[in-house]
Amino acid sequence: MKVVVLVGGVGGARFLVGLKALLPGAEHEITAVVNTGDDVWMHGLRICPDLDTCMYTLGGGIDTERGWGRSGESWTVKEELAAYGADPDWFGLGDRDTATHLIRTRMLRAGYPLSAVTEALCDRWQPGVRLLPMSDDRVETHVVVEDADGAEKAIHFQEWWVRHKAQLPARSFASIGAEQATAGPGVVDAITSADAVLLAPSNPVVSVGTILNVPGVRDALRKTEAGVVGLSPIVGGKPLRGMADACLDAIGVETSAEAVGRHYGSRQCSDSGILDGWLVQTGDRADVPGVAVRAVPLLMSSVDATAEMARIALDLAGVGVD
Ligand code: GDP
Ligand code: CA
Repeated sequence: MKVVVLVGGVGGARFLVGLKALLPGAEHEITAVVNTGDDVWMHGLRICPDLDTCMYTLGGGIDTERGWGRSGESWTVKEELAAYGADPDWFGLGDRDTATHLIRTRMLRAGYPLSAVTEALCDRWQPGVRLLPMSDDRVETHVVVEDADGAEKAIHFQEWWVRHKAQLPARSFASIGAEQATAGPGVVDAITSADAVLLAPSNPVVSVGTILNVPGVRDALRKTEAGVVGLSPIVGGKPLRGMADACLDAIGVETSAEAVGRHYGSRQCSDSGILDGWLVQTGDRADVPGVAVRAVPLLMSSVDATAEMARIALDLAGVGVD
């Protein structure tokens, strides 16, 4: 079975772990199309938070408490940078993690595309899932905020998310570079030749939403013969981790499973929708015209619980797994 999943970082990576447990073995191929809108240059290093979260989580190198970065991490480089007063000082740059960024940066500087760099890094981690950057081109999420004088300015997503903890009211998001970008090698092909396509319970605005901004991706989702099913990251009217509600506010979408389902929209009944099915948490109600909605347990509290979510999603997409 060939399954494609659109993912961000922590929520996406956890979902992939469950899906991989459900579909072990070489007869299955899981491809993750990973958001790279969060990527950023810091201290001369190229950092790809969502790709690394997926790679470390699937490869057993993640810090499970934090949900991002390496296990057994130390922070000497960060402390030394701070002692120099180096800006930015608000970003968590771990020592072990820095090795990954050094290799990535060296390869990018040598002319390799991000997709090839990712493949090389995955040689070490053996994630068991094909990790495809959504694009090899620079597509960066910026956030339009108001400065102290009430003037609008755009800041990098990481500055808004990590430094300001999404507390600075966001007016809108922009995917810088998206219009000129093309989807990464294999992305459109994977979607159009899949048996099922799933949208992980990732941030609908700055993870899945950013992937959808890459030209060709939405079309591929609308064209594929595979069923397309999403899982709600909003449970009981709240995101489970993180600050997705601040992102939804900025684009004028209510923080509810129903509103996010309607935001993605129906493949059948709308001109731009992408869903055939939508999973919401037991007890949540959602009416999404033209989309089959099921309420099931959606808490990724264990690998087994997540695998069961994946099984139900695949079932709704028309491919049964025993
Ligand atoms: P990020 O890039 O690290 O922010 O991660 P993602 O975009 O992949 O995922 C973040 C989203 O995962 C948040 O909006 C959470 O609501 C959602 N999430 C986290 N844990 C769970 C869970 O157990 N179940 C569901 N349904 N969503 C979850
Ligand atoms: Ca992210």
